[in-house]
Amino acid sequence: MNNFELYNPTNYIFGKGQTEKLSKLVPANAKVLLAYGGGSIFKNGVHEAVTSALKDFEIIEFGGIEPNPRFETLMKAVEIIKQENITFILAVGGGSVIDGVKFISGATHYEGNPIDILKNRVLFTDLSKVIPFGTVLTLPATGSEMNSGAVVTIEATQEKLTLGGSALFPKFSICDPTVITSLPKRQIQNGVIDAFTHVMEQYLTYPHDALLQDRFAESILQTLVEIGPNVVENPSDYKLASNYMWCATMALNGLIQKGVPSDWATHMIGHELTALYEIDHARTLAIIAPSLYRVMFETKKDKLAQYGERVFKITGNSVDEKAEKAIEKTVEFFHTMGMKTKLSENTENYKDTAEFIVNRFTERGWKGLGEKQNITPEKVREIVEMSY
Ligand code: NAP
Ligand code: FE
Repeated sequence: MNNFELYNPTNYIFGKGQTEKLSKLVPANAKVLLAYGGGSIFKNGVHEAVTSALKDFEIIEFGGIEPNPRFETLMKAVEIIKQENITFILAVGGGSVIDGVKFISGATHYEGNPIDILKNRVLFTDLSKVIPFGTVLTLPATGSEMNSGAVVTIEATQEKLTLGGSALFPKFSICDPTVITSLPKRQIQNGVIDAFTHVMEQYLTYPHDALLQDRFAESILQTLVEIGPNVVENPSDYKLASNYMWCATMALNGLIQKGVPSDWATHMIGHELTALYEIDHARTLAIIAPSLYRVMFETKKDKLAQYGERVFKITGNSVDEKAEKAIEKTVEFFHTMGMKTKLSENTENYKDTAEFIVNRFTERGWKGLGEKQNITPEKVREIVEMSY
């Protein structure tokens, strides 16, 4: 097993009715920026629950954080925080609002041009230089409620880039599975597939000696396969909702990534598809992952075979056969979850996509992605073209 440090300071508060605890979790005397998205929290009672729990606090609201949060929008919140001397931020929403708040938290005291936070992947490690924040999660998907990473889009250049660092963990996250009853089916489908792919990025590499890590990963994948289609149809079933929410957090709270190699190329390529065509994050992953497994078959086939046997109970006479069946099963699962796994099914003008992405990665100096850094720009081209 590789050496590792496991650090996760987020106070994770799970279950029905937990929003009531907010008044004890937000620091006394804090001046709070309540950040939210397009307004779903006004329709499903979450805004009401949050503001009544925080009735004794001074709150300024900042709405309009878009799905795939925009740098340009987030900078408006940074200005408000400075003008109003805000001391705590509460993110109420899905991954986009939480990611946006992570950016706002780091950007407020950043000395320099804030766009460099994204362009140069600045790491925030000094707690005294960020604004503390907590979250009330409304969409299980990203794990952002219990990790320190974020993805932000620069509207002006159509770039979707990451930031993060140990200072950007939420202080607390309230995760009440009953919030998913108001989610559109499409967002539940997305959430399951994003969580599933997070596990795959940290699991589907090559066989190694971290046995427990593999089984943690497989148990999350199995649970998502078991409950995924049902939770879309029955979001008010608490057993399904609660397992879905916990799976999504466990998929990307750092635990399963410790001691093992990880890939993340599906996400890196997928981000480009969202930046270019505004395709939902999870849907970009469902487009890219199958082609990536096929193009990188020689690197990944041993792990694909293990995954197929353990997660889908696949049998076969050879590693190659099992690995191929495992890819087919994955695509089948994506389809069951309402994904369209070809780029052409998601956007019309896709023909130059591979060329565009390869040029971008080359400009950024990304020579080799993946667990073996062998997903070269030429492999990226093959992967994207195969996904057309
Ligand atoms: P999202 O973009 O936060 O939200 C998608 C939509 O769902 C929004 O329109 C939102 O509406 C709506 N919504 C959220 N909760 C709802 C509820 N309870 N009822 C009804 N509608 C609700 O989706 P997401 O999948 O959670 O986040 C995607 C973003 O996270 C992407 O930018 C992706 O790249 C990023 N991401 C981050 C990480 C990480 O580790 N940080 C990992 C993977 C992906 P409102 O805006 O009106 O609330
Ligand atoms: Fe993701």
